[in-house]
Amino acid sequence: MKNSIFIMVLAFLFLGMSVRSEGRIEQSKEFLQRAVEFHGHLGPNLDLGLRAGLYANQVLGRDPMKTEAFIQTKTTPPESCFADGVQLSTGCTFGKRNIALQQGEGLLVAFKKNSQELALKLKKEKIEEMNSLPSDEKAWEDLAEDLYQRKIEKIFQIDKKNKE
Ligand SMILES: [Zn+2]
Repeated sequence: MKNSIFIMVLAFLFLGMSVRSEGRIEQSKEFLQRAVEFHGHLGPNLDLGLRAGLYANQVLGRDPMKTEAFIQTKTTPPESCFADGVQLSTGCTFGKRNIALQQGEGLLVAFKKNSQELALKLKKEKIEEMNSLPSDEKAWEDLAEDLYQRKIEKIFQIDKKNKE
């Protein structure tokens, strides 16, 4: 009896540890901090990339090898900063060529994994909100912090397809 309790405790500890190490790719303050270290600064576009990628992980299952990401937005910063958020969260990277960035209006990202497709389009009012921001760093950081907490449906128009 004592032995089985001991084994259960061990199993719990092990489970807790594995959940914690896997849980590093999740919407946490620590993950946002890692993104800032990776990208170099905190901004709303980086943040939006993280949110879109984390949502894709949730819906499609995170798979850095089988997932593809297609981004359409301006190909220069700050808009292109979005791509770094997507890279870090989904593991789709420019080195592996499973992420693409194309010039386009607004901000759109489409994820493909096997027969599943997921598209997220930044809502018009969010684009307007970002365009009307004063150009000081603090305002951009505040908006990024705020966007990190908001409901995904309030930020993006979401479209999911299964091609099978
Ligand atoms: Zn940036």
